[in-house]
Amino acid sequence: MWSILLLVSIAAVSADPKEFNGDKVFRVVPQDQSHIELIKSIASDTQLDFWAPDSLSLISIGQQADFRVEFDVAYDVQALLESSGMPYEVLIGDVQVAVDEQHDSNIRAVHSYEKYNDLDTINAWSANIAAQNPSLVTRSQLGTSYEGRPIYLLKVGRSGSNKKAVFIDCGFHAREWVSPAFCQWFVKESVENYGSDAVLTNLLNNLDFYVLPVLNVDGYVFTWSSNRMWRKTRSVNSGSTCFGTDPNRNFNAGWCTVGASSRACDDTYCGSTPESERETKALANFIRSNLSSIKGYLTVHSYSQMLLFPYSYSYALARDHTELNTVAKNAVDQLFTLHRTRYTYGPGGTTIYLAAGGSDDWAYDVGVKYSFTFELRDTGRYGFLLPESQIKATSEETMLAVKSISNHILNNA
Ligand SMILES: [Zn+2]
Repeated sequence: MWSILLLVSIAAVSADPKEFNGDKVFRVVPQDQSHIELIKSIASDTQLDFWAPDSLSLISIGQQADFRVEFDVAYDVQALLESSGMPYEVLIGDVQVAVDEQHDSNIRAVHSYEKYNDLDTINAWSANIAAQNPSLVTRSQLGTSYEGRPIYLLKVGRSGSNKKAVFIDCGFHAREWVSPAFCQWFVKESVENYGSDAVLTNLLNNLDFYVLPVLNVDGYVFTWSSNRMWRKTRSVNSGSTCFGTDPNRNFNAGWCTVGASSRACDDTYCGSTPESERETKALANFIRSNLSSIKGYLTVHSYSQMLLFPYSYSYALARDHTELNTVAKNAVDQLFTLHRTRYTYGPGGTTIYLAAGGSDDWAYDVGVKYSFTFELRDTGRYGFLLPESQIKATSEETMLAVKSISNHILNNA
């Protein structure tokens, strides 16, 4: 009897979300190889959770790197950084405080565009907004996740024949919560401002937008139930006790050659094969099936305030580099006008680092010319834990960039 009670109580405890009390996020800027070696040696002794860049292998001299350190070694790590002479700062002094404070909205409604909504709430919202706006929004199921959840897709636009389309996805990486918030915002703006905003109305009359609010549904649920810092899918890896694949290293674009890991326990694990994940397979199948109409592909991540385009798997310039660079510049210029938020832009490989298997490179190589990756706010003050009070401003400014890119597609594709 007591042992049963004990088991029940252990199960109850383990179902609670992981806490991050006293964990710190450091930003370092390695000045030479000894600094890189120091970070590598720290990472070999303790679990470092890389926030930006995505993994230890991507850190380099002169480039800032943000990582989370667990509370029990945070002071030791700080002492090592201090004595090394490497420039560093503490971005977040207590990660749990930031986790709690991201929910700074006072809105009581179950669903809100200015709150982070869990998956059930997002799914109920997408069903509802399609039902309420049948002439503008239809919902379908893109596929099913590893754990059996439906992955819903919204098609937004006035019906018409032979329309070009732009595909927008959010929620690749589970912990980047502002990304699904933006996809919801995009649909809200579309239904609320159709007929009053001339630019948006023209876009919706002449383009279809496929909006995928959450691709990595299993990972997103896991960030709500168990571990706020989860990034990957939740598939079981054979021969390993570690779960999940990085969906943005899982596409067939220089797959697993650079900036990706073949170790299942790593956050940038490329998977056992390209499109090994049900989620990435479903997305790739949909785009392959609709290549004649899809002219733009926008994938929304966070954080670091960047607008990237191919290539990330190589330093080679894309065939359409000059045009894509102009489109990106115009988009970030538009974005800046609203709240003076500065974005950098350029090809992924040279703007951040080489990383193979990304969906933007894959989409470009199969023929979707206007292929871009957004890295939304911020630049590290809150990182993945951007407060809800910034969702509105982030989404509003991002809308300007998406409209700018979409207008270019409408006029040029
Ligand atoms: Zn991401």
